[in-house]
Amino acid sequence: MLGATSMRVHDVTLTLRPGMPTWPGEDGPRVEPLKRMARGDSSNVSVVTFGDHTGTHVDPPVHFLEGGATIDQLPLEPLVGRCRVVGYGDDDHISGHWLDGAGIGMGTERVLFKTRNSERWRDPTAPFDKEFIALDETAAHWLVRAGVKLVGVDYLSVEPFGSGKLGHPVHVALLRAGVVIVEGLDLHDVAPGDYELFCGPLKIAGGTGSPARVLLRQR
Ligand SMILES: [Zn+2]
Repeated sequence: MLGATSMRVHDVTLTLRPGMPTWPGEDGPRVEPLKRMARGDSSNVSVVTFGDHTGTHVDPPVHFLEGGATIDQLPLEPLVGRCRVVGYGDDDHISGHWLDGAGIGMGTERVLFKTRNSERWRDPTAPFDKEFIALDETAAHWLVRAGVKLVGVDYLSVEPFGSGKLGHPVHVALLRAGVVIVEGLDLHDVAPGDYELFCGPLKIAGGTGSPARVLLRQR
């Protein structure tokens, strides 16, 4: 039983499951039995297959910067610590101008954006939505200037759909500055405010991304 004084821990991780939305052209996760006690094996073991940007996941620099740091080389400090969840209610992408008035204090190192995207996660198999809210390029530069070390968003990319033809300027600005990007957070059950963040991507040698378990503890 949770007591009234327990520090509530919020799991803001998407559940990896077949049929979950993925980036167009990427297969969803597969879980296949390797050993099954029901078939006479001594244990239950499965083989799990997924793209390394599936579900709630971390983008390391190498995702868009050839030769950049890989997932196993990420610094740990940005992944754990005090974090601000910022609520955003508009239908445009998040801009630097909007961030000027968002009340993000000096010295804030970790920022997660809760937008209307999070409502989509109430249905874990809702189809991919190209109209998701993301950061525009001015927001990326704003966050770099502010000294933010980790940015999290509640859909599958930190930048608007179709940014490939522009050279993915939001990813590149953030990754070049060493900002850790977390994508695919489910914040529908989390109120804006201050939390303690724990973000644990898998330690894959040379990994170009990794699903992560992400937890927020109420402060
Ligand atoms: Zn990604």
